[in-house]
Amino acid sequence: MTTIGLIGGMSWESTAVYYRQLNEGVRGRRGGLHSADILLHSLDFSPVAEMQAVGDWDAAGRLLAESARRLQRAGAGCLLLCTNTMHKLADQITAATRIPFLHLGDVTAQAVMRTPSRRPLLLATRFTMEQRFYRDRLLAHGVDAVVPGEAERAEIHRIIYEELCRGRIEPASKARYCEIIAAAVAGQGADGVILGCTEIGLLISQRDVAVPVFDTTALHVAAALDFALAAESRAA
Ligand code: GLU
Repeated sequence: MTTIGLIGGMSWESTAVYYRQLNEGVRGRRGGLHSADILLHSLDFSPVAEMQAVGDWDAAGRLLAESARRLQRAGAGCLLLCTNTMHKLADQITAATRIPFLHLGDVTAQAVMRTPSRRPLLLATRFTMEQRFYRDRLLAHGVDAVVPGEAERAEIHRIIYEELCRGRIEPASKARYCEIIAAAVAGQGADGVILGCTEIGLLISQRDVAVPVFDTTALHVAAALDFALAAESRAA
């Protein structure tokens, strides 16, 4: 089994989900006492969130590149960056390392393309919804994601940073996300919804929504399991 390197802590609320789901996945696929082979570097999110807020992406890129190098040195056989937003800096990570980087945008788009959905709603931080780095990555695979209006984007973003990243799961916020999704289905022709922030799966699931839900955390975990466990067949 390949050692899975996680660049996490952004926030740790979702990194904990990665840790649990990776281990559950290995147990589900291999049985018995098998569990995932993981190296985790969990960053302090406060300075990272500050760099995002002031737009100091260069400093954030250096931080993530160093984290990736440390995981590579420690023996990771692949890398997962456990946040959609910081995929803005994916190039800095891949330039700093030699091991495979499982890009969350590619993994998500590939999952969408396996379904009839081509115009999913993207729910994420403002950075991910408003800048081109993530939507263009999806588009390269044929997925033309739509985003909600300005007021809704502000609300979605606020709920991520003020609630979900602090471990607060509020029923009122869940209801608001569901309203925003329903409005996009009715008004923008959205035919699916991408939970494009790794914490949103803590709030919303397929049970809450009529259109197909693409949970980026779960999809990233599944891709990592495929990669890590395929190593045995590659070696055989
Ligand atoms: N985990 C989040 C994401 O997937 C948001 C926190 C961050 O900005 O990294 O985008």
